[in-house]
Amino acid sequence: MSDHADITDKIIFAAVRRGLDAVRRQPRLAPDCRCHYCDEEVGAAALFCGVDCRDDYDKERAAIARAGRAV
Ligand SMILES: [Zn+2]
Repeated sequence: MSDHADITDKIIFAAVRRGLDAVRRQPRLAPDCRCHYCDEEVGAAALFCGVDCRDDYDKERAAIARAGRAV
């Protein structure tokens, strides 16, 4: 029984590790006082002017990644 648990643990940990590695390989956005989606001025530490732009940006990047293009 513990063999199954051990194997399952290894599979789960490997999947989590692959997910974390994929997230860490993504380029990080740097704040530049402009919304990264609509180019509106934002505060110095903000990346987006609001959650709508953030969500649209994420959706656009995901679509580009699914299409197999560089993001
Ligand atoms: Zn925006």
